[in-house]
Amino acid sequence: MPVITMYTKPGCSYCDRAKALLSRKGQIVTEIDIEAEPQRRDEMIERTGRYTVPQIFIGDRHVGGSDELHDLEVSGELDGWLGVSKAAPREPERARIVIIGSGPAGYTAGIYAGRADLAPVMFAGLRFGGQLMLTTEVENYPGFPEGVTGPEMMELFQKQAERFGTRVIADDVTEVDFSRRPFLVAGADDRFLADAVIVATGASARWLGLESEARLVNKGVSACATCDGALFRGKAMAVIGGGDTAMEEALFLTRYASKVSVVHRRDRLRASKIMQDRALANPKIEFVWNSEVDEVLGDEFVTGLRVRDVGTGEKRDLPLEAVFVAIGHEPNTQVFRGQLALDPVGYVKVEPGSSRTSVEGVFACGDATDPHYRQAVTAAGTGCMAAIDAERWLAAQGIE
Ligand SMILES: Cc1cc2nc3c(=O)[nH]c(=O)nc-3n(C[C@H](O)[C@H](O)[C@H](O)COP(=O)(O)OP(=O)(O)OC[C@H]3O[C@@H](n4cnc5c(N)ncnc54)[C@H](O)[C@@H]3O)c2cc1C
Repeated sequence: MPVITMYTKPGCSYCDRAKALLSRKGQIVTEIDIEAEPQRRDEMIERTGRYTVPQIFIGDRHVGGSDELHDLEVSGELDGWLGVSKAAPREPERARIVIIGSGPAGYTAGIYAGRADLAPVMFAGLRFGGQLMLTTEVENYPGFPEGVTGPEMMELFQKQAERFGTRVIADDVTEVDFSRRPFLVAGADDRFLADAVIVATGASARWLGLESEARLVNKGVSACATCDGALFRGKAMAVIGGGDTAMEEALFLTRYASKVSVVHRRDRLRASKIMQDRALANPKIEFVWNSEVDEVLGDEFVTGLRVRDVGTGEKRDLPLEAVFVAIGHEPNTQVFRGQLALDPVGYVKVEPGSSRTSVEGVFACGDATDPHYRQAVTAAGTGCMAAIDAERWLAAQGIE
């Protein structure tokens, strides 16, 4: 068995995700806490050229961070790196209800389905806990007057779901068959035949893909103005993008910002006419046309943005303290293609006012269905709807 070394620090949710995956594979991880041993931080930077934890080594091979570890698992290469052979697929177990996804929507569905004695099984995903694991401060979720960190909140959600009997499996669903009942829902190791399924797989913000952007997430870089805008009151900010969402974010941020620079790589916006008109007329918004982001500037926190003119190649620095990336979201619904009706972007279509999908017995909730609100509280609300819809549907089928 190769020695696995992981540079970590306390409170790092990406480290927890990577550890959970390796422990599910029976691996022992030697952790190096770079906060407790600052000289090991320098060692990590020297070995990897990276400034973010976790950094994972399998033997002498550098994997990278948690996302890269998960990518190896999804591509089927991780077992080879670890020198373990793939277990034969297990016989499917029966379940009344399987929930796919462990953000606010999935856990809320788990709480309600658990309290209804449906013994729900949850595939929490390799990136369990959902989008809020990426954020340090949640100030707008009711019931937390002092705010709460995203990972803390998701731990509470999980505990509450488990308290009512939700069985949580830290794996991705890689295969579903909704063409016949009971429905097949399967991950790499566990397979279930379920009477009802709740899809709560959320969405992922698209990022620019710059190293400096990843390093400064939560330190001035964000993908959610509604969530984080108020944290930068009185500061200069930037929004990256030229669509409706970018204009919405920019207009929203003018409530707090001294100035908002919209950086767009073309010379005109993609946004609808009405949104363009509003943004162009707002004196707090300036447009940086024909420009791409070269680098987010700052060591500990964002101090600026280096942009490059796509025509001339000329670079210039914009001093500011927050950068909101608004280049779109991608619903995590690839595994449902051909199984459920999806809209052109990939959001699961649900009947208005309910969580019913195109397949009877399959329900959907949260950001996987919602291009508009994308908030934890709305995701939790629709998670509740999905569990109640599923419970009533099961009861109507005589399954209680
Ligand atoms: C940086 C950031 C900050 C934010 N801050 C706030 C805030 O302050 N307040 C607020 O209200 N909202 C905030 N949001 C938005 C909020 O996080 C989302 O609206 C909310 O998390 C959506 O919940 P969800 O349960 O639908 O999906 P997600 O939170 O996206 O969770 C979906 C889960 O499903 C899992 N999954 C995906 N595919 C599979 C699969 N095939 N098998 C198994 N599991 C799978 C994923 O790994 C993930 O764990 C923020 C978002 C971001 C990105």
